[in-house]
Amino acid sequence: MSEKVLIAGGGIAGIATGLALARTDASVQILERAPELTEVGAGIQLGPNVTRILNAWGLSTAMQKVASYPANWKARRVSTGEVLATSPLADMSTRYGAPYLTIHRADLQNVLLHAARVSGVHVQCDSLVQNVQQDSQQVCVTVSLGEALEGTNEVLSKRAQEQTTKEYSNAFVIADGVWSTLRQQVLGDGLPRMTRHLAYRALVAQTDLPAHLRSQDVSVWMGPKVHVVQYPVRGGEWLNVVCLTEGQMYGVANQDLQDWNLSKSLIETRADLQSALRGACSHLQALVEACGDWRLWPLYDRPPMQNAAQHAQARVALVGDAAHPMRPYLAQGAGMAIEDAAELAHQWTTLANQDVRQRFAAFAQARWQRNARVQARAIRNGEIFHATGPMQWARDVGLRSAGKRLMDIPWLYGYLSA
Ligand SMILES: Cc1cc2nc3c(=O)[nH]c(=O)nc-3n(C[C@H](O)[C@H](O)[C@H](O)COP(=O)(O)OP(=O)(O)OC[C@H]3O[C@@H](n4cnc5c(N)ncnc54)[C@H](O)[C@@H]3O)c2cc1C
Repeated sequence: MSEKVLIAGGGIAGIATGLALARTDASVQILERAPELTEVGAGIQLGPNVTRILNAWGLSTAMQKVASYPANWKARRVSTGEVLATSPLADMSTRYGAPYLTIHRADLQNVLLHAARVSGVHVQCDSLVQNVQQDSQQVCVTVSLGEALEGTNEVLSKRAQEQTTKEYSNAFVIADGVWSTLRQQVLGDGLPRMTRHLAYRALVAQTDLPAHLRSQDVSVWMGPKVHVVQYPVRGGEWLNVVCLTEGQMYGVANQDLQDWNLSKSLIETRADLQSALRGACSHLQALVEACGDWRLWPLYDRPPMQNAAQHAQARVALVGDAAHPMRPYLAQGAGMAIEDAAELAHQWTTLANQDVRQRFAAFAQARWQRNARVQARAIRNGEIFHATGPMQWARDVGLRSAGKRLMDIPWLYGYLSA
């Protein structure tokens, strides 16, 4: 008889894990607090370490319909616009066996969700997992069902017509994101930390841009305490633009800090961006000016994982941002969630004749150092991207000399997860 797995959270991590486990013999149910899985988010870059897994799950055709395949990754200077390095992405398939692509988060979520449902995953929305307990035999979670309210975790938990139920399973996966309340219960290590980095993001139709601002490449513009990333999504028809700055969040209520979709007034946003990009070249100024609807995302993370126990505790495993929230400077947060999913399913099958606790322990052992390395490297990349003074000069020398080898990163893209 197939074993039942409950998953808390229907983001990229939860759905990918659901799909991967359903492709084995598990019976999977995802509990998602939102009333429906909405199309929120922005662009995501996926390297060959991730697309190799998606291909193995039979998703390459579905991905080709919605993704973009940029030809180059360019490092540029904010102040002058100088291209410091151009690294080809088009040959990633030859080098690493799978492509480098860019995609809207909602499109990735839809592809995964469709495949998960076809594989038999049951997604139950409007279900906030409040509490988890386990013994040697099973896991029991308390789920609050009912009329959803808009707002934060705290508000959502005070439902108008609260109704609580208990669900039991052989295994439980925590995939409730960076603000995971379930992690706090299981590991007891408090809230994530404020990075004091802010992500302003916008999507603009390429046809709304003057020809010289349109692009099918990934470009990363680096400046003192700021950088801007741009790349195509939705088959190249839209440009995703993200400006990452350093500083405090002013004028935002505490509970809104958990929101990845904050909007300030256009005047306030323009003022913030102008101040962060003071001295930027005219091309970058024009691009930022051309993007109308900016959304603000305060960034939180945790220090790199310390040990396998942070990934699994007996019948409970953590995946994605709940386990290892990271800064976006290596573009691997969703990627590590998908690698987690693949590894969990691998251990589920390889150790099929063993207890769930052994399978989860093997998963944790296989994943924690990889995730810790990527988390640490993402922090380091942020320091390099935002360098000031002599470090900036040294960075530019390094980028120029790396040239087209810049994105040739075997430890990252050549990683063969299960
Ligand atoms: C600016 C920026 C750029 C990025 N760019 C990239 C990139 O290029 N490449 C990349 O790979 N990654 C990128 N990332 C990271 C990536 O977006 C995240 O790592 C990924 O989306 C995390 O997915 P998740 O499923 O773990 O969490 P989430 O997407 O946060 O999903 C958590 C889900 O759990 C639900 N939930 C919460 N609490 C409960 C509960 N108690 N019960 C039930 N449900 C619950 C939530 O409603 C939500 O649906 C970027 C991040 C940022 C901020």
